[in-house]
Amino acid sequence: MSAVGVEVDAGLCEGHALCIQLAPEVFDLSDDEVAGAAPPPGPWDQHTREAIKSAVDACPRQAISLINTSTKGQ
Ligand code: SF4
Repeated sequence: MSAVGVEVDAGLCEGHALCIQLAPEVFDLSDDEVAGAAPPPGPWDQHTREAIKSAVDACPRQAISLINTSTKGQ
């Protein structure tokens, strides 16, 4: 199973924090009120993966992208 990471486009994010409500273990809000995503500590568990997908769907700015960390920079 490939590892899934998450990226937030800081240029799109408006700090609505919906992603943080849905997946607080992954997303956090900076002092600038732009969301950031934690790097995966290994493959996310099923619950977290579903929460991330919900956050991707819920983001009104479509600022969240899933990335395959097994093919990115490793
Ligand atoms: S839901 Fe989207 S716009 Fe809102 S804080 Fe999260 S990434 Fe930013």
